Amino acid sequence: MQTAEEFSKIISLHFSPEVVRKPMMYNLAKKFDLTFNILKAKISPREEGHMILELSGDLEDYKKGVSYLQEHGISIRDVAQSMTRDESLCTHCGVCTALCFNRALRLDKATRKILFDEDKCTACSNCTRICPVGAMQVESNGDF
Ligand code: SF4
Ligand code: SF4
Repeated sequence: MQTAEEFSKIISLHFSPEVVRKPMMYNLAKKFDLTFNILKAKISPREEGHMILELSGDLEDYKKGVSYLQEHGISIRDVAQSMTRDESLCTHCGVCTALCFNRALRLDKATRKILFDEDKCTACSNCTRICPVGAMQVESNGDF
């Protein structure tokens, strides 16, 4: 969820075996007062790490936290462009529009269909949690 005070975004992190052993997430919370919700995490056989997490907090703290991760060699990708809707599953029930505060999901009054505008999506993941048929999905580009 995103309000004027609270910023929230889903990001994808890739990091080396050296970083895997460091308490980066702990530092992120402690140094920058950010909260995180790990959605997926995997360590490869070569001990490289990949994680998708929702990072929340004050916008300025969020920016500092992201810089901190990048300074430690963690590559970060915004997963907003990776939000997809499975058109074969979506029933256009409209439930998701109530929780899409960016109006990326909205009712087209003419067609009574729910439109999905990827450009307005901030990957807050509200819709993935509420969609009764699992039509809204976060893609992981085959990393998992
Ligand atoms: S809640 Fe799911 S099924 Fe309903 S309109 Fe949204 S994406 Fe489609
Ligand atoms: S489409 Fe879903 S993930 Fe994107 S902003 Fe709306 S509720 Fe959030």
